[in-house]
Amino acid sequence: MVISKADSRVQLVSDLILPETKRWNAHLVNEIFAQAEACAVRAIPLSWRRTTDFFYWSGRRYGYFSVRSAYYQIQQARLSKNPSSPSQNFPWKKIWTTPTPNKIKHFMYRAVNNILPCRDSLMKRGIQTGEECALCGEHKNESLTHLFLSCSWTRVAWFSHPMGLRSDTIEEGFADSYKPDEMAKITQALWAIWKARNENLFNGKLQDPAAAIHKALTLLMEWLAAQEKTPQNSGTSSNVTWKPPPENSLKVNIDAGWTGTDATGFGLVVRDHNARMMFASTHMEPARFDPAMAEALALRWSLSVIEELGMDDVVIETDSMIVYKAMREAHCKNYIEPIILDCKLLASIFPKFSLSHVKRQANNSAHSLAALAHEYPSIVWWDNPPRSVAEAIFVDALSYD
Ligand SMILES: [Zn+2]
Repeated sequence: MVISKADSRVQLVSDLILPETKRWNAHLVNEIFAQAEACAVRAIPLSWRRTTDFFYWSGRRYGYFSVRSAYYQIQQARLSKNPSSPSQNFPWKKIWTTPTPNKIKHFMYRAVNNILPCRDSLMKRGIQTGEECALCGEHKNESLTHLFLSCSWTRVAWFSHPMGLRSDTIEEGFADSYKPDEMAKITQALWAIWKARNENLFNGKLQDPAAAIHKALTLLMEWLAAQEKTPQNSGTSSNVTWKPPPENSLKVNIDAGWTGTDATGFGLVVRDHNARMMFASTHMEPARFDPAMAEALALRWSLSVIEELGMDDVVIETDSMIVYKAMREAHCKNYIEPIILDCKLLASIFPKFSLSHVKRQANNSAHSLAALAHEYPSIVWWDNPPRSVAEAIFVDALSYD
C-alpha cells in the first residue's frame, strides 16, 4: 500500500482499522490520504472476522492465477497496440446462443464488425463530426475501443457491474470463460454504454455510469423473467407476491439501494404470520457499493439487527440471487466472500434460520425502506412506519390469499 505522507503510526493496512469495531479509522485515513484516496479506502467493506490476507490475481474473476489468463492479458496489450480485424476470432456461436434480446445480438454484431457509428469511424468515412468522446468529452479519438474499454466513464461502469468486471479483462471473457447468462450481462452492459453515449450526444444528458448499468441489468432480468415459460401449476406465482411466514416464525424482508449521491441504504421489515409489521429499520453506509456487495452488506446488517432483537425462528428474504446463491455454496469464490462468511457465521447463531430468494415485486416493503435510508440514516420503527412503507406493507397484506 502506498501512503501519500510518511506517517510513523501506519506500517500495515491493519493499523488503519479500529480493532474494537473492525471499521476504518476514518480520522486517520482522512489525515493520511488525499481526499479521493481516503474516500476510496473508506468505501472498501471490511470483514467482521479476523481474516488472513491473500493474493488476488486481478486478471481473473476468482482471483486465482492461471497461465491462460496471463496469456490473454499479454494478447490484449498487443491487440490494443495493433488492432486488426476484430471479428475474426470472435466467438459468434456464443453470442447467438446468449439469452439476450435480439436487438442486443444485432448491436453486438455491429460492434464487433466496427460498424457502429462512433465518431472515429464517421471521420474515416469522411463525415465531418467532432472528434472527442461523447461520454468523457476529453479523449480526442472516439473509437469503439475507447468507448467500451478505456473511457473514464466506462471504467466506472464496468467497476459497478455485479460480476466485478474490469475493462482490461473483458477480452478474455468473450474468448471462452463466461457462461451464457454471464455473456448476457456483459453484452447488456456494452449496450448500456452505447445507449448512454447516444443519450449524452443527442440529448445532452450524461447518466451516472453505475445507475446506467444497474438499469440495463434490471431490464435484462425483466426480459429473462418474461421469457420463462409459465407452468400451469402454482410454481411461479409463489414468489412473485409476498407471502407470510408459518405461524410462530417471523419473516424478515431485506433490501439495499443507492441513496443520495454517495451512499448505500439498507432496509428491513419483520412481519408475523398475520402480515402484521413487528419491526422495521433503516441503515445508511456512506459509500456506494455495487449491487452484489450492497445486498451482501444488507444481509450482514440485517442478521446483526435481528440477532440483537433475540429472534430465534426467522425466514429472511432477499431479492439478490447472487447473495442467495453465495449463502448456499460452500465457497462462493467471489469478491463478496468475506462478507458472506460473516453472514454465515451470524446465521449459525439462530436455532431456526432460513434464507430464500424472492422476486423484486415481492420485496417492495424492504425496497421502500432502503430508499428512505438517506432521510432516516439509522431508525427503528415498532409501529407507524413512514407512509411509503406502510402502503407497501398494506399492498403485501392484500396480495396473498
Ligand atoms: Zn471517453
